[in-house]
Amino acid sequence: MLATFKQIWGLKTLKGKLRFYTLLLIALPFLLVTSFFFLFQREQVLGGALRQIVSSLRQEGNVMRSWMGERFDDARFLAGIDALRQGDVPAMLPLLHFYQDTHPFVSDVIYVSAQGHIAGAVSAAPGIYVGDRPYFQQARAGKPSLTSVPVGRASGQPICLFVTPIQAADGGFGGAIAIIVVLSSLDRWLLGARAAPGGEVLLCDGQGRILAPSSAVAAGGGPGRAKAPAALLEAGETGSLLRSGDGETWLGAAMPLGDDGWRLLSQVAASDVLAGYRRQSWWFLLAALCTLAVVTPLVLRLSRNLERPLLALAAYARTLRATRYREDCPLEFPKDVPIEIRELLDAFCQMADEMRGHIEETERISVMDALTGLYNRRFLFSGGTKLLDVAARAGKPFACLMIDLDHFKDVNDIHGHSAGDRVLAHLGRVLLACVRKSDLVARYGGEEFAVLLTGADAAQAAELAERIRGALAREPCRIDDVFLPVTASFGVAEAREEVEYGESPLEDMLARADKALYRAKAAGRDRVVVETRG
Ligand code: GH3
Ligand code: MG
Ligand code: MG
Repeated sequence: MLATFKQIWGLKTLKGKLRFYTLLLIALPFLLVTSFFFLFQREQVLGGALRQIVSSLRQEGNVMRSWMGERFDDARFLAGIDALRQGDVPAMLPLLHFYQDTHPFVSDVIYVSAQGHIAGAVSAAPGIYVGDRPYFQQARAGKPSLTSVPVGRASGQPICLFVTPIQAADGGFGGAIAIIVVLSSLDRWLLGARAAPGGEVLLCDGQGRILAPSSAVAAGGGPGRAKAPAALLEAGETGSLLRSGDGETWLGAAMPLGDDGWRLLSQVAASDVLAGYRRQSWWFLLAALCTLAVVTPLVLRLSRNLERPLLALAAYARTLRATRYREDCPLEFPKDVPIEIRELLDAFCQMADEMRGHIEETERISVMDALTGLYNRRFLFSGGTKLLDVAARAGKPFACLMIDLDHFKDVNDIHGHSAGDRVLAHLGRVLLACVRKSDLVARYGGEEFAVLLTGADAAQAAELAERIRGALAREPCRIDDVFLPVTASFGVAEAREEVEYGESPLEDMLARADKALYRAKAAGRDRVVVETRG
C-alpha cells in the first residue's frame, strides 16, 4: 500500500519528494483550517447567529408590544370620551376624524353601537351589523381584543382591529370602539428591523398568516394566503435550527407578542450566515493555489538543479564501479546548482581524478620492470599474446628475440651487484634505442630479455639482433670512470601456428628462441642464432 503510494507520487525520487512535500506544505494548512472550522467553529458561528436573531427579535417584540399597548391605550382613551359614552355620533365624528388624521397608520376608527351596528366611522359605511363578530362579542363581555383581518374589506390588505368596550354613561354596555390599522404601515419598521443579515422580520397572527411586511405577504401568495413556515412558528422564542424540505438548514425564532397569538418571526439560511466564511475559504484556497503556482516552478527548478548533477554523478559512479575509471568526470554544473551539491561534485571529481591517477600508476607499476624501465615478464605474456593475435589476424609475420648477457655473473662478482644492475639498465636503454615503437621489449628474468616484433620474420628479427649486438659493442657500459664491455647472445624465432612447446604460440615461439639462444651460448656467445626447423 505504502509502496504503491510512493510509486504513484514518485516518492522514491528527489523530484517526487520535493513536489509532494511542497503540495503538503501548502495544502495542509488550508485543509486543517477548513476542517477545524467545520468541526469546531461552524456550530459556534451558527449558535452565535441564532442568539443574535433571538435577541434582536426580543427587542423588536418589545417595541411592537408597546406600540400595540399604545393602540389599546388610544382605544381606551377614545372609549372614555363622553360623546362615545353617550352614543352621540355627531359629536364623536370630528374626534374620530381628528384621531385618524393625526395617526397616519390608522385607516379607520369605528364606533359600534351597543346593538352591534356601525354607527359612526371615519370611512366605513354606517349601519353594517357586526354584532356577530367575535371582537364585538368580546367587547360585550367587557374585554378588549386584537383581531387580524388578512384581507381588509376596504383596503384588500391585511388590517387589524384594536377593539375596546365602551362603558355607557349609565354604566351599562355602550358599544365598542375599533381602531383599524393597515398593517402595511408597519413595513418600513419591519424591513428596517432585520434580526440577522439577510433575515427578514415577519409579523404573523395566531393562525400563522403573514400580516406584514407587504412584500412577504405578496411573496407568500397574497393577503390571506401567505403563511409562515410551520417549523419556524414552532421554533419558539429561544429559536432553533430548522431543516427545510430541500435539506437546507435555517436558523429561526418566533417571538410571541401577546395573548392573541401574534408573533414576530425571523429566519436566516445557515448558508447565508456562513457565506462570509465560505468566501474566506475560497480566498484562502485561491491563495494556496497561487502560492502553489508560484512555488511549484521554483521547486521543480530546484529539484532539476539537484537531480541533474546527482544523476550525472550516479551515472559516473556506475561507470567507475564498472572499472571504466579512465573516463573523465563528465559533470557540468547547472548555473543555479546549490553550493553543497557543487562542493560534493567537485570533491567527487577530484577524488575520481586522484583515484584514476593512482590506478594508472599501479597498473603501470604492475607491468613494468623497475630496474630497466622495460615491461616485465607478466606483461610480456599478456601484452605479447594480444600483439601476436592481432598480427595473426592481419596475416603479418611475428618474430622474437631472446637475449642473455654473457658472463654476467662475472660482472657481479668482479664489479659488484650494483654495477651488475647498471649493466642491466644499460642493456635496457640500448634495446629501446634499437627497436621500433610497435615492438615490445621486456625483461624476461635475471639478465635475460625478450623482444617481440610485429610484422617481422625471422630474418628481419636477426637483423635487429645484429643491430643490437653492434650497438652494445659500440657502447660499453660506463660505470664511474670504467667502461665495461657488454656482450650478449641472441636467439631468434618466428611465430608458428602449431604449438610444440608450452601452451600457446607465444610460449612456443619464446621456447624455440631460447633454444636458439642456448645454441648461441654454446657456440661461443656474443652472436645471433636463428632457430632452425626440425
Ligand atoms: P652465461 O654467459 O652463460 O649467461 O653466464 P652468466 O654468468 O651470464 O649466467 P648465469 O646464469 O650463470 O648468471 C646469471 C647471473 O645474473 C646470476 C645472477 O646473480 C645475476 N643476476 C640475475 N638477476 C640480477 C639482477 O637483477 N641484478 C644483478 N646485479 N644480477 C642479477
Ligand atoms: Mg642467464
Ligand atoms: Mg647470462
